[in-house]
Amino acid sequence: MIQGNITILQNHPLAPLTTWKIGGPAKYLAMPRDLEEVYALMRLAQDRGWPLFFLGRGSNVLIADEGLPGLTLCLARSLLKLERQGECLRAGAGVPLPKLARYAAELGFSGFEFLAGIPGAVGAAVRLNAGAFGHNLGGVLRRVWVVTPQLHLVELDAAALGLGYRSSLLLNFPHWLVAEAEFALGEPTPTGEIMARMQDFLAVRKSRHPANPRSCGSVFKNPPHGPSAGWLIDDLGLKGRRRGDAQVSRKHANFILNQGRATAAQVKALMAEIQDRVWQAHQVALEREVVFLPDDLI
Ligand SMILES: Cc1cc2nc3c(=O)[nH]c(=O)nc-3n(C[C@H](O)[C@H](O)[C@H](O)COP(=O)(O)OP(=O)(O)OC[C@H]3O[C@@H](n4cnc5c(N)ncnc54)[C@H](O)[C@@H]3O)c2cc1C
Repeated sequence: MIQGNITILQNHPLAPLTTWKIGGPAKYLAMPRDLEEVYALMRLAQDRGWPLFFLGRGSNVLIADEGLPGLTLCLARSLLKLERQGECLRAGAGVPLPKLARYAAELGFSGFEFLAGIPGAVGAAVRLNAGAFGHNLGGVLRRVWVVTPQLHLVELDAAALGLGYRSSLLLNFPHWLVAEAEFALGEPTPTGEIMARMQDFLAVRKSRHPANPRSCGSVFKNPPHGPSAGWLIDDLGLKGRRRGDAQVSRKHANFILNQGRATAAQVKALMAEIQDRVWQAHQVALEREVVFLPDDLI
């Protein structure tokens, strides 16, 4: 289907657009090239009464086996602006986090190296306050621009976002699209030094994370107190536990891997079992980090 000069694909598979490679098709899928096309597509969804979903690089979502109704906007190839403006960096929602980290390093500013190995894009990362190695985006974020369902472009200061561990107030507004973000450039630092630090972070990741890339990273948030989610799961001997082709990684217990043709139902069943076992044994309610679509939006 063509809308204006935007192509809208019908019943298009979404699994290849996610790192887990799981999930059914989108009823309608569009890949807007710029903000104007985003507006046009959001307006179209409203006019037709279609539910609307956003997808970045698909590294923190579990898409239902039945797929998604309505219109999905895949933003992985759009909103790619990345430029320095004085003491700040402006990045579009689609900019991959490793690219943001490299760009800051090339400019000779530290503070972004922790993003090097995180396979997401800026939009979703702001929403979830992505982080690693004791740092998170909140440490460098100054403000964001979001498109509301009324199609207003609203500027919000980072202080107004209530950024916390893998959370922000934006999670309460899943129909707001993060369009752009502004970050403060950190300390001027020789590029070589920053690159070396990034390599160190990447090496630690490689040593801790499973080799199979078909995952969503950490499935559960670490509880606010006490041992990490991975420790709690490992302690119950759940490494290697399987439901169909969904398997708890033997290397990092907070990763669930797609070992072949895992389904969303299998992943959910494994997650529910883990939450139940951890609750029974430790009275800790593990909260998931990964987003379920469409469940979390309907
Ligand atoms: C191997 C691996 C390692 C990882 N390591 C880390 C880590 O160290 N730290 C960490 O924080 N995360 C980590 N993650 C998780 C993930 O990369 C981050 O959460 C990332 O920010 C998700 O970005 P994405 O573009 O892939 O989002 P997606 O998975 O595409 O989307 C996630 C959610 O955000 C919404 N969304 C997407 N784009 C927008 C937008 N522009 N506006 C509004 N909503 C939007 C989607 O609807 C969905 O609800 C890891 C994942 C993997 C696979």
